[in-house]
Amino acid sequence: MTATHSISKPVQPCDFEEALRCILQHSHPLPAERLPLAGAYGRLLREDVVATEDFPPFDRSAMDGWAARADDCSEIFQVVDEIRAGEWKPRTLKHGEAVAVATGAALPCNGLVVVPQEDGVPEANAVRFRIQPGHAKYIRRRGEDWKAGTVLVCKRSRLNAGALAMLAQAGHCSALVSRLPRVLHLVTGDELAAPDAGREPGQVRDVNSVLISALMRNRTAKFVQRRLPEKLDAAQVRADLDDSIDMLLVSGGASVGRHDGTALLLEQLGFTLHIRGVLARPGRPLLFGSNGHRIAFGLPGNPLAHWVCFYMYVLPALRALEGAHTPLSFLNGRLAASVGAGAPGIGMFIPAAAIAAEDGWLVKALHWNSSGDITPLLHANALLHRPAGAKPLPAGAVVQFLFSEEATIQDGGTR
Ligand code: AMP
Ligand code: MG
Repeated sequence: MTATHSISKPVQPCDFEEALRCILQHSHPLPAERLPLAGAYGRLLREDVVATEDFPPFDRSAMDGWAARADDCSEIFQVVDEIRAGEWKPRTLKHGEAVAVATGAALPCNGLVVVPQEDGVPEANAVRFRIQPGHAKYIRRRGEDWKAGTVLVCKRSRLNAGALAMLAQAGHCSALVSRLPRVLHLVTGDELAAPDAGREPGQVRDVNSVLISALMRNRTAKFVQRRLPEKLDAAQVRADLDDSIDMLLVSGGASVGRHDGTALLLEQLGFTLHIRGVLARPGRPLLFGSNGHRIAFGLPGNPLAHWVCFYMYVLPALRALEGAHTPLSFLNGRLAASVGAGAPGIGMFIPAAAIAAEDGWLVKALHWNSSGDITPLLHANALLHRPAGAKPLPAGAVVQFLFSEEATIQDGGTR
């Protein structure tokens, strides 16, 4: 990219907490849309949904059998009716009377119990019970799952299958959810060969395209990707960056080298840069800016840095665009093996494998030479935090880590 403007005053590198605060402050919830339940799976709910009636809405039989009065000790019961699931046949029962009921059938009045089929011996139009009716129950009581007026699913819940089932039973056919964030990943770097193209001497293959598109798969977002030449001007990018893009990710060129043009590109596209570097590795050269409600990241091209920045900054921003309040949640774990000292003046997020152990999480820092490594990503399901200037720690010491969600577990464990 050729410099046509001067870049605004550099912002000092900040620590990751400050960076995250700034990112979240500029990541505004997108408008909501109403979707049929069938299309709302995984979306973020934007309103509390309140039950308008009890569930179950009436006392129901939990078994196939007979309903009789709870205080009735008769020898034999006349079967005066049959009630199937879905039928509504209110009536009272006298002593010595029972109704045959199917599972789910509405009981005809209060004060009944259900004797299961296995505990009754039918005789012509009657039945004898092997147990006292009072000892049976088998009733799903009205309102035992939820009562009218209860908040069934709270605003900002992600709609899982259970939430959708509840909404359906409560009579909702649609849900008010966040619209999908639209994310554009622009991959720059003239030294990169497409994985399916021949690699010239001096080139490496483009990893970040496949890495980010895999990390974005199954997310609630619309994701598009482009490869771009390094010497591009903003006008070329504007064509891709049509008005519908909410989040722009630029891979590579985020640092301060002569050929690193992402900061300038973002400024030319109208973004104001709020972050120019974080005091955290991998991922130190991170850029972040906003232009109205749109946000943009300059992500360092090294794959390990790309991965770390995705989990540390991009994913929280994506969730904030959906309207979720989900700060990074660090967990405590015990080190599986000793780790060396942290770096002075800069925090580290080391790819790690976290395994459930009897007394909590066991965290193994994975070996990495530099942020250009890819191998640690094979087994990483976590990021181990080493604060700036941290002292060496022995195996068993308590450390903080974040789950990244995914790891390939292979026989033979980690390398
Ligand atoms: P950059 O962020 O452009 O300074 O690139 C830093 C390092 O990451 C360089 O060694 C690049 O060759 C490498 N790199 C940049 N983009 C990619 C990519 N998409 N896939 C693999 N390596 C990359
Ligand atoms: Mg580059």
